[in-house]
Amino acid sequence: MTTDDATSDDWLAAYENAYRDPLAIENLPCPGCGAHALHMQFVLYRPDQNRPTALFWCGRCMTGLMLGPAPAPAGVQPVLASDIDVPNYRILPPIG
Ligand SMILES: [Zn+2]
Repeated sequence: MTTDDATSDDWLAAYENAYRDPLAIENLPCPGCGAHALHMQFVLYRPDQNRPTALFWCGRCMTGLMLGPAPAPAGVQPVLASDIDVPNYRILPPIG
């Protein structure tokens, strides 16, 4: 299975799983390559922003989603964009 076999639908389903249980993200396989290398960050681009953008990507096949603004799930602190290092991953087009 290659990365291109995974649709945005597959990715969205994985994101929803990660969102429901952020602490279990390391147990989730990547919908594209199957690696346990998914990352989810809720990023604020300005300190006064109140709704973060959700970034969800696989560190192995470097594919993922950019969603939002979306409220961060319980137990997850949004981070400032300047404080994290997000790789330049391939963002799948939105569904619809
Ligand atoms: Zn992957």
